[in-house]
Amino acid sequence: MSQPPRVAIVTGGARGIGATTARKLAAKGHAVAVVDLNEADAEATAKTITAEGGTAIGLGADVSDSEQVETAVSTVAERLGPPTILVNNAGVLRDNLLFKMSEDDWDTVMQVHLRGAFLMSRAVQGYMTKEGWGRIVNLSSNSALGNRGQANYSTAKAGLQGLTKTLAIELGKFGVTANAVAPGFIITDMTRATAERVGMDYEDFKNAAAANIPVRRVGRPEDVAAAIAFFTDEEAGFVSGQVLYIAGGPRT
Ligand code: NAP
Repeated sequence: MSQPPRVAIVTGGARGIGATTARKLAAKGHAVAVVDLNEADAEATAKTITAEGGTAIGLGADVSDSEQVETAVSTVAERLGPPTILVNNAGVLRDNLLFKMSEDDWDTVMQVHLRGAFLMSRAVQGYMTKEGWGRIVNLSSNSALGNRGQANYSTAKAGLQGLTKTLAIELGKFGVTANAVAPGFIITDMTRATAERVGMDYEDFKNAAAANIPVRRVGRPEDVAAAIAFFTDEEAGFVSGQVLYIAGGPRT
């Protein structure tokens, strides 16, 4: 099936999984808006994409702030056209055991992952329903199944699965699908920061994780970007409300 070019937004697209996903979607011919907290970082990723022959812009926005979200989404529509692919990827960690977890640690994680995905999806759905076509992909995590030190993060990532299924039910009749990817251990700054927090060398941390993963390696951003690209595809129009674990095995 031919793939008409679309306009995609990737939040948290300045680095890690988001940046790789933005490049992948651009390589598929879509115009991509890289949205991230820091505008200069978002623009740097957009420049890499344009240097590779793609179309991209970088915008600064905090996904947990409704005004910034509305402004960013209207700017994308004005500069690139109606956004019909949304990857809710922006994320933060504030890991701590429950007894040491502050209210701020809890709220920050909920704000970025849950409120962020809600605000972005709400801002973009009007364009998608008007076009009669849309693809939303949310970044869950295998932490949704529970993970020590991540009461906040695992709750948010499980919540994103509920959001995904509800968006699939509400928006399906408008040609919009919603799916989630739930990565296991992926090599990014996020897992680097976790290694630092637990006082481990990153190589040792990765090797220890890989030993417990059935395919005997940790994941790369490309592993996740490939699955996200599938969900955004024309051909994936009958796949909705699903959660795909990308963890080198059924669980980690
Ligand atoms: P990362 O390297 O830390 O990148 C996250 C990006 O999100 C950063 O560019 C960050 O900006 C941006 N961001 C944070 N808060 C934001 C906000 N309020 N508004 C806009 N952008 C914001 O993370 P990653 O490892 O690529 O993870 C991407 C997604 O996958 C996250 O949702 C994460 O929870 C999920 N995930 C990751 C793994 C893994 O092993 N890495 C596993 C499962 C799920 P700054 O750099 O300015 O803070």
